[in-house]
Amino acid sequence: MSSSDQQPDVVHEAAETMTDTGHTATRRGFLLGATGALAGAALFAAEAAAQQSKPGSENTVTLPPIDAATEPPLTTPGPFLAPGKRVGFAVVGLGNLSLDQILPAFGSSDYCRVTALVSGDRGKALKIAAQYGIPESNITDYAGYEKLKDMPGVDVIYIVLPNSMHHEFVLRGAKMGKHILCEKPMATSARECEDMIAAAKQANVKLMIAYRQQYEPMNQTLKKAVADGKLGKVRNIVASNSQAVGDPTQWRLNRKLAGGGCMPDVGVYCLNASRFLTDEEPDEVFAMTVQPKEDPRFKEVESRCEVLVKFPSGMTANFTSAYDTHRSTLLRLEGDTAWGELSPAFGYHGSKLHFMRLEDGKDVEMTPSIAEKDQFALEMDHMATCVLGNVPPHTPGEEGLQDHRLIEAIYKSAATGRSVKVQPPATSTRGPALPPMKG
Ligand code: NAD
Repeated sequence: MSSSDQQPDVVHEAAETMTDTGHTATRRGFLLGATGALAGAALFAAEAAAQQSKPGSENTVTLPPIDAATEPPLTTPGPFLAPGKRVGFAVVGLGNLSLDQILPAFGSSDYCRVTALVSGDRGKALKIAAQYGIPESNITDYAGYEKLKDMPGVDVIYIVLPNSMHHEFVLRGAKMGKHILCEKPMATSARECEDMIAAAKQANVKLMIAYRQQYEPMNQTLKKAVADGKLGKVRNIVASNSQAVGDPTQWRLNRKLAGGGCMPDVGVYCLNASRFLTDEEPDEVFAMTVQPKEDPRFKEVESRCEVLVKFPSGMTANFTSAYDTHRSTLLRLEGDTAWGELSPAFGYHGSKLHFMRLEDGKDVEMTPSIAEKDQFALEMDHMATCVLGNVPPHTPGEEGLQDHRLIEAIYKSAATGRSVKVQPPATSTRGPALPPMKG
């Protein structure tokens, strides 16, 4: 199957459900292209074919249609893999992200199940294990991490620890021969990322970085609009990801544990989005950081980071990230004939996609209504399909490494007050196949 066969048909879905305020046909044309309905039918066929190739497709159930052909089709979720056939995940680190997002996401997953927990707090791990039906024998602590090697049902290790611990736990995980999904930012330096990639290669295991945005349907719709030239030529990107951190003693504000402040934690979303949405790589950055040391939260790391970015095509970007403002997110791609924007942009829920273009001398706004999906379930299901099909992940270690090279250039620029040139990678840092969409 070619990579285009595997591409999700999110644009079709977006066009069919677009808010109709009198410009429906033209707006469908904007996203679907001149061939309109015919292209839609072809995309539909591609989606049906993709459905057939999904793990567990032998269990697909098709219900007779109840609506007229003019109505948007109903979709039956699945097919899901039977519990015993699912890819088993060990979750390492039971903090906020694991408890609030990742563990609940297994309930929305088609191909994954949680089979083991690694935590420094056995009491907490026992309570979580009871909630998710994990046997007590599949709980271990950080010192006993290597017990995962022989635990039944552990195929993938999902590392959800403070950033500075990713390197060690990826290396130890690869040595056990386990596939690894590692949270962003990948590490605290490009050097660590290189080690992690080498360790996974040497052990012949898959290493995927958890860039959940890249598996999310609105981002994929925006990416396809850019690739199809629907914005014209993208000239500039405006992105911002900011939030207010609290407890000054948390690891995020400790330079050694976090590797930096707002930039690697939340600024990385702006940076990664500009790269994957345009398939271009920055070649120069200019940055400024602010560190109000009188604020107990910012003794060691920056509270704000402003970045100007240039790409070889002449496209530019400007990013803001902050740890001391009310939560605020935006991602806008400004093309010469239209713009596309996610606002809000980077949260777990509630993203909204807008397009604006000139039509008959008037600005016309389009707001495709795209069903929200659990981004962690999508991302984990991608990892599972890579394991089941033995294909490389779409966001491998190389994707994380390039972000870290750029973050290092950003910090160098902020420290020297000069712009810093960066050598773009010779080949794409992303795997060839986009993730299949869930049914
Ligand atoms: P957290 O502080 O809530 O949890 C961290 C866990 O690591 C805790 O269970 C803690 O006990 C454990 N831990 C082990 N050793 C530790 C040490 N030396 N210091 C501090 N904690 C230690 O953090 P989190 O929000 O769950 O973040 C974990 C990882 O996930 C980070 O890499 C973060 O960047 C990433 N993250 C990603 C997203 C996303 O949307 N993809 C969102 C939040 C966090």
